[in-house]
Amino acid sequence: MRCAVLSDIHSNLEALTAVLDALAPERIDRYLCLGDIVGYGAEPGACLARLEACGAVIVGGNHDLACVGKFDLGWFNEAARSAVLWTRDQLSCTELDALRRLPLTATVEPCTLVHGTLRHPERFEYLVEAGQALDTLAACRTLMCLVGHTHLPFFLEYDRRRRRITRLLTRAGDLTEIPFTDDADAMRYLVNPGSVGQPRDGDPRASCAVLDTDRHEVSIRRIPYDVAAAQRTIRQAGLPEFLADRLAVGR
Ligand code: ZN
Repeated sequence: MRCAVLSDIHSNLEALTAVLDALAPERIDRYLCLGDIVGYGAEPGACLARLEACGAVIVGGNHDLACVGKFDLGWFNEAARSAVLWTRDQLSCTELDALRRLPLTATVEPCTLVHGTLRHPERFEYLVEAGQALDTLAACRTLMCLVGHTHLPFFLEYDRRRRRITRLLTRAGDLTEIPFTDDADAMRYLVNPGSVGQPRDGDPRASCAVLDTDRHEVSIRRIPYDVAAAQRTIRQAGLPEFLADRLAVGR
């Protein structure tokens, strides 16, 4: 099975379309989405529709749930909060219902999907420390856990017998064709595909992962898209200027 792993699309239809177009010739069997379909960008409904059209398995992110009152807006900075309130007004009842129904976690063998951390999915913590990675892997019942939320791609391997992290890859050049074993008794893996719609690692291209469970290989892909067009829609919508500016620098 080949899975496309998409996270943190953030209403950026230009980036999502570029990613889906780039992956179209690649015989993708399953689309997995790790949440934050909406927020920040200007095309929330269209992004939700594109994901639904490809039958994606989706878990909820903090922005998705904040739009439907299931996560406290007090956690958001001013720009994020105003984008959530704007998004809430744009979406139909059906679209808001779709967000309301998103689960916090999902399992698609051999993967568990979550937006933040598996120990406390409802808190939407940023998984940035080794301790959080180990906590999440301890709570994980599958070979691999897929996480989003930080918008920073990485691959982590944990050796269960030696009880230590044996590989941590974060540099772009190391994140392609990464081999993994399918022995869940021996190993566990944690993968963040980066962000489709608002990368924050200094590379403005859309980020996603392709996971091949037959070849036991995962790759982070970077896909260029029309950043200027995404910026235009944000400005035309009257969303905070900062949300348009940051797309150009990937921060
Ligand atoms: Zn996000």
